[in-house]
Amino acid sequence: MKTLQTEGMIYHGATIKVILACVICDTPARAFVKRVKGHSGYGGCDRCTQNGEWLGKIIFPETDAPLRTDVQFDEMTDDEHHLPGVGKSPFTQLSVGMVSRFPLDYMHLVCLGVTKKLLMLWMKGPVGIKCRIGSTAVNLLSEIITSYSSYIPREFHRKGRSLRDIDRWKATEYRLFLLYTGPVALSSVLSPVLYRNFLLFFTGITCLISPKLSRYFCDYAQELLCLFVHNFADLYGRDMLVYNVHALVHLSDDVKNFGPLDNFSAFAFESYLGEIKKMLRTPNQPLQQVIRRFSEKQSVGHPQRRKTTRTENENLRCKHTDGPLLRGMDAVTQYKEIQTPDIFISRSRGDNCVNINDEVCINRNLILQSDNEKTVIYEKFIDKKDFFTYPLSSSNIGVYKVSQLSRHLEITLLRNVKNKYVLLPKDNEYIALPLLHREN
Ligand SMILES: [Zn+2]
Repeated sequence: MKTLQTEGMIYHGATIKVILACVICDTPARAFVKRVKGHSGYGGCDRCTQNGEWLGKIIFPETDAPLRTDVQFDEMTDDEHHLPGVGKSPFTQLSVGMVSRFPLDYMHLVCLGVTKKLLMLWMKGPVGIKCRIGSTAVNLLSEIITSYSSYIPREFHRKGRSLRDIDRWKATEYRLFLLYTGPVALSSVLSPVLYRNFLLFFTGITCLISPKLSRYFCDYAQELLCLFVHNFADLYGRDMLVYNVHALVHLSDDVKNFGPLDNFSAFAFESYLGEIKKMLRTPNQPLQQVIRRFSEKQSVGHPQRRKTTRTENENLRCKHTDGPLLRGMDAVTQYKEIQTPDIFISRSRGDNCVNINDEVCINRNLILQSDNEKTVIYEKFIDKKDFFTYPLSSSNIGVYKVSQLSRHLEITLLRNVKNKYVLLPKDNEYIALPLLHREN
């Protein structure tokens, strides 16, 4: 990395400057590479200076302790934080901010961390704390989330498994639960007080993951997550305020530095691990094999990438003649689906609900006009209201309860489609949640 930073990298004859933007790790790895005490140590929070409290394990009850700074880290002033006798982390030689450039990774912290913890507490939390929801409610929750699988858009590779398989759930399944299926399913399962606490978590993370909301709602998300952590102690016990739960209060600082959560999460690396695994032909000497595969790729060389325009990338597929069409539309070609660089839309359930002019709409037909203009024929939901009103009106974050399709076809240009919704049924109505996360 030192060589890359000073000399750059030669690629197709051009020198590419290399900058270390940030280091993405899970919590134990972050402590290891920074040479600091782990999250179970008294000075274990890598973002604030509070002294943890021993309650059978180390907990971090404060949400407003003074923050650590890069300068303090370099001076190694806090003996409770730095590992004794091992010297400075090699990363310090790269002149990288040892606090600010090591963001928290939400894949581990939020999805595999707090979301999993909540589910475990509801299913098998300690007896004596009124957070267990009972086996009937667990079965109901499991039934609801599996019944949603046919409503989940193509962007999700895993559509939601039963809670019986929770030990095998992947980070993407916890993400699906937290951001989409959970808020809807849990409204029928949790007590109002537990549900309201979950909504603080859901709304806070939704604000931080959305490229648009994270620009304006970052401080608000911080307030929500602090409140979530405070209430978490009351509802689930003070001894539950372990590092993962506490660290949520620092997440919005990273969003201010690096943009929405997907900009600096481990999801991209996790999915690329699959590619690396495919490079292995035998179980022996895996590293050597991977390096060999990479060198083979390089010697073959990459074909020059042809510059493609946005329109060329927008592929209409599956021609048909079934309609529906508007009156007077004759010389047009009809398609069932389209893939653009940003969105996949089809006429099928799961992939047909979109935002047009801030209305929740169902795509009925995709049309290529005779002048080559791409258009969408759609119906909109007439009744659109808030799904929840705590901690804010859900419409402020683009989440709606909708019903009653207009039965009146309208047409608009494809470019007026803003985003896709995950549309889930609930009590003869639907809940529309904007598709927010970026698939890596
Ligand atoms: Zn902290």
